[in-house]
Amino acid sequence: MAIYNHPDAARMTYWGLYSLQHRGQESGGIASADGQNVNDIKGMGLVSEIFTDEVLAKLPGHIAIGHTRYSTTGDSALLNAQPISVDSTKGLIAIAHNGNLVNLGTARERLERDGALFQTTSDSEIIIQLIAHSKHSTLVDCIADSLRQVEGAFSIVMMTRNRIFAARDPHGFRPLSMGRIPGVDGAPDTFVFASETCAFDLLHAKYERDVKPGELIMVSEDGVTSRYFDTTTEQASCIFEHVYFARPDSKVFGRWVQQSRAEMGRQLARESGVPADLIVPVPDSGVTAAIGYAEESGIPFNLGLIRNHYVGRTFIQPEQRTRDFGVRMKLNPVRSLLEGKRVILIDDSIIRGTTSRKIVRMVRAAGATEVHLRISCPPTISPCFYGVDTPSKKDLIAANKSVKEICEFIEADSLAYLSLNGLLHCCTEGDAEPNTYCTACYTGNYPTQWVDVSEILPAT
Ligand code: 5GP
Ligand code: SF4
Ligand code: MG
Repeated sequence: MAIYNHPDAARMTYWGLYSLQHRGQESGGIASADGQNVNDIKGMGLVSEIFTDEVLAKLPGHIAIGHTRYSTTGDSALLNAQPISVDSTKGLIAIAHNGNLVNLGTARERLERDGALFQTTSDSEIIIQLIAHSKHSTLVDCIADSLRQVEGAFSIVMMTRNRIFAARDPHGFRPLSMGRIPGVDGAPDTFVFASETCAFDLLHAKYERDVKPGELIMVSEDGVTSRYFDTTTEQASCIFEHVYFARPDSKVFGRWVQQSRAEMGRQLARESGVPADLIVPVPDSGVTAAIGYAEESGIPFNLGLIRNHYVGRTFIQPEQRTRDFGVRMKLNPVRSLLEGKRVILIDDSIIRGTTSRKIVRMVRAAGATEVHLRISCPPTISPCFYGVDTPSKKDLIAANKSVKEICEFIEADSLAYLSLNGLLHCCTEGDAEPNTYCTACYTGNYPTQWVDVSEILPAT
């Protein structure tokens, strides 16, 4: 999240981060600037736990960037919380990064040979160290130079004491949008950048456009300027943003997530319908697809599982123990709805299969006579290196078992996944200029050269 030209930039960023909390819950932070000084405050936990009125008062200025983190590389520690700031001959630069770089080792070694002292174990710091060590003369050239040297997924916002930068990797893996709040009485407009457009709504910012793959935008006193640092790569935006990650009230890659997700449900019903009495989503991630499935199949929809909203997203916490505990804390069946019914459960994905098995058991124990599971994407057979924390191949159930074996493992009466062509149709249908997507976790075909080979070894 970034904001330029607002008298209360830190507070606006705080509101924006609130709407982006689902993208990371381990740590959060805001950096602000008033044209002279840059301040930052970071902490572990939720945005609401880190920031109070008193804390926000320590972040004056009309420029701010902010971040919520869930770790995919680097430890889950305060040290790695963002924004990360580095002071160099180019002045102080702070960065907030969503995504995951893949050519870390080489870039980091080269920088350390050049004398870079890394403060964190996070991949994101590499980008600003590259900027700090770049030989180009202007800051914007140094940034473009740095971004050409890293491979992988990066949607980033950066700030100096008087400017904001926003950029996306040439594949456009992660979303990043630009919004605008019109200035009142002839005052200049306020510019906002956020991973998802849902962050704009609370700020009354109007969605203007996406930051394009390979684009670097600068906002300064002279207005907004844009350039492309790399145009040689085909777009490969993360299709899993539409399946699970983003909020349905966001537009990502120029497309409403709600629209894609409802279509996934409709397509699932067309591809693998089964006679039943009730459609039940696994909340919250399965809800929108389940509504689509119910519409298409004509089978009634109801909330047969209730989620306790005071427990965080279990998958996002890295400790296995927390996850197991989390499932039981998080979901509870509604016996009065499920008793005596043939139930179709809709969820977005099966990763290890352990959650799904618990849920199927729970629904059966609550009196369902049949439990069919439908998944709104293809089997997850390969890990993600671009910012989604999927486990390595040996822990991905679909990399190691057939659909029939998974069905037996989770103890469902039937199991079906959405086809890859079906999914692609759901995420492009009706678009004048359809996106092209990364689908590597379903196909094993990675759009970057670098992948972590140790993660894609099959189970032995
Ligand atoms: P499993 O059955 O594999 O143990 O758990 C699957 C559940 O984890 C699904 O309900 C899915 O919504 C949830 N989940 C939460 N976070 C993630 C994530 O980052 N990736 C995937 N694939 N699933 C996630
Ligand atoms: Fe998204 Fe999957 Fe590609 Fe990762 S591998 S970027 S989760 S589509
Ligand atoms: Mg879920």
